[in-house]
Amino acid sequence: METKTYQVKGMHCASCASIIKKKLEKLEGVSSCNVNIATEKADIIYDFAKVGLSQMNEQILKLGYTLEGIEAPISKDETSSVKSESQAKEQKLTELEDMRQKTFFVMPIAATVFVLMMWEILSHRLVYLPTFPLSMDAFNRISFILATPVMFWIGKPFINGVVRFIKYRAANMDTLVGIGTLVAYTYSSIMLLFPEIKLLLNSPEGLYYDVTIVVIGFITLGKYLESKSKLKTGEAIEKLLGLVAKSATVLRDAIEIIIPIEQVVIGDILIVKPGQKIPVDGEISEGKSSIDESMITGESIPVDKTVGDTVIGATINKHGSFQMKATRVGGQTVLAQIINMVETAQGSKAPIERIADQVSAVFVPVVLVLSVMVFVSWVVIGSEYMALSQALSLGLISFVGILVIACPCAMGLATPTAVIVGVGKAAQNGILIKNAESLEKFQSINFVVMDKTGTITNGTPVVTDIEVVGHIDEKIVLQLLASLEKYSEHPLAQAVVEKAQIEKISLLSVSDFKAFEGKGLEGTIADTHYFAGNLKLADDLQINVDENIINKFTSQGKTPVVFATNESILAYIAIADTIKDDAKEAVSALHKLGIKVAMLTGDNKRTAKYIASKVGIDRVIAEVLPADKANEVQKLQDEGFKVAMVGDGINDAPALATADVGVAMGTGTDVAIESAGITLLGGHISKLPKAIRLARATMRVIKQNLFWAFFYNIIGIPIAAGALYPFTGIMLNPAIAGAAMAFSSVSVVTNSLLLKRYKI
Ligand code: ADP
Ligand code: MG
Repeated sequence: METKTYQVKGMHCASCASIIKKKLEKLEGVSSCNVNIATEKADIIYDFAKVGLSQMNEQILKLGYTLEGIEAPISKDETSSVKSESQAKEQKLTELEDMRQKTFFVMPIAATVFVLMMWEILSHRLVYLPTFPLSMDAFNRISFILATPVMFWIGKPFINGVVRFIKYRAANMDTLVGIGTLVAYTYSSIMLLFPEIKLLLNSPEGLYYDVTIVVIGFITLGKYLESKSKLKTGEAIEKLLGLVAKSATVLRDAIEIIIPIEQVVIGDILIVKPGQKIPVDGEISEGKSSIDESMITGESIPVDKTVGDTVIGATINKHGSFQMKATRVGGQTVLAQIINMVETAQGSKAPIERIADQVSAVFVPVVLVLSVMVFVSWVVIGSEYMALSQALSLGLISFVGILVIACPCAMGLATPTAVIVGVGKAAQNGILIKNAESLEKFQSINFVVMDKTGTITNGTPVVTDIEVVGHIDEKIVLQLLASLEKYSEHPLAQAVVEKAQIEKISLLSVSDFKAFEGKGLEGTIADTHYFAGNLKLADDLQINVDENIINKFTSQGKTPVVFATNESILAYIAIADTIKDDAKEAVSALHKLGIKVAMLTGDNKRTAKYIASKVGIDRVIAEVLPADKANEVQKLQDEGFKVAMVGDGINDAPALATADVGVAMGTGTDVAIESAGITLLGGHISKLPKAIRLARATMRVIKQNLFWAFFYNIIGIPIAAGALYPFTGIMLNPAIAGAAMAFSSVSVVTNSLLLKRYKI
């Protein structure tokens, strides 16, 4: 089984998506199919050996849909396939242009007919309105001439919908509109062309060409506006694609040459001049500069970088000139990872969308049956109270009105358009959302657990104090300890090694090295066995520590490290990490959102408490072994909290995965951290409250959209059926139903687009 994504052509609404899903899943070898109408893409999980694209197409082609293979915007190994995405866009633009022409043809007609229609209706009620200038017969004849091209040219997609329904029993929104308008057109034509029948039935003078024209006109306009806005929802991806550098200056055989970006290979030495875009990901090998990374991290302050620092492709070099070694190219670059992730997330389904999917799957057939039932009721029951001709004509209005107003279009657009805009906006602010599910869960978070090192603190600790016990020299302590710590990957270890480097101390060779997770390490140097670590380790070794020294360190927020042999302590080392500039602000922003904040760390309790108090954190969970971090998250969940865990995603992956939403601080070049639903780029914790606010805003828009879409159908259908008629004499004019229905989907898409302006 493998998953492949295809572009789908010929879709109009949510019911199209469910028809395609149903048809494809029937095929042997296809295990699941997920169709997104906003991106017009289908994710299909299938067995490549059993079924292929052509069989799948065969299944849906006759229903008017086609699957087309697409490539990822930046494929795994090259950048050249960016073209395929722009080709798809071009095709959409051509389709849009065609729709625009048809709209411009039909709208003047529809608008004129609409005005005349209203005039005719109102002139019977409002005395001061000039009498209708045309005889009814003339109006009908002109309408006939206008309605014919509208029905058969502009309305062709709707007629196709009816044909498909008759042939294959597959109904979508086009079918509903098609049946409604065709019935109105046919009825009117029979009455116009065969006056005898009209006399026989004694039916009213007015015909329903206006319904055909106005409904097709407004729905065509609605579809055009909707497609136009839908293109706009996807702008974030385009902007990201536009960031890809086109060329690079490479140093080959000591000569500078400019080459297309696709030709850059890993290991190339590239030259980046002031004002230039950094072509690919790499490491500075010579020189230094200040770099604007805002396009990736959303953070406007430039970052100073020097030899050994990593630089990200697509960011801008501000002042200095430097040389860099390319470490990632093509699909592996940070930018390519971001684009892939955003694309996947935009196409994913939010759990809330399932309601809309389920409703729209049964909606169309139910509406068809309902409209026929209402028509029959009018004729059978209505004719008891009124002339048969009148009951027949009211029944017809109801029938057409229900078909037109019940289209589940807006319902299908409600969720995906908002998800696309929300995820795209997040990406522009350096917040990467893995999928719509994470977004949905994120809005209900009420407890945030933060890892200390690297999340609240900068994660670059330094050695501040060394207190030796007895007569041993401080330099020797540092030499021994740094030699051991050299083998450890812990941030504290780095602090010690760096301190030794600064003091130009040479390191000794170590044997029998072993790390104790969350405690420290041991190793042998010149026949003596040493230990370094926290109080837990000292406890394990059953050696007594000097509480005074420990307390002195911890009360200043420093982490104490005990350095000892088997029998006795040689020294106490204090290591301090700086608190991130934006940590305090982030915690108070979270509090304002009604969210509690806890710190989770393996560090000393008192050290942790000190740091927590500096940034205003509510709860401290300290001295936790890495393996127990997930349990601590679980405990909070058991207390009934919806928990987001924020960490670096490396040693806290299980905790990230256990939390309702895992949030990773994306400081490195790995963007797609498996266990994280959300990644905050650039290591800025202040993005966390922003991300939550954006998630909440997006969900709010989705709920508004769904409410309006459902509400509209729930209110519209009974009115169209004539529920108000017995009491007020009001019937829903099908033409007005058509206009309203067209604008309901336009308003849903517009509401989603408004999210772009939301200030996070
Ligand atoms: P966290 O990532 O939450 O800070 P860890 O579980 O990585 O916590 O580490 C917990 C504690 O274990 C550290 O605060 C430190 O006291 C001790 N420790 C771990 N590794 C080392 C090491 N290499 N050298 C000294 N102390 C260490
Ligand atoms: Mg850690």
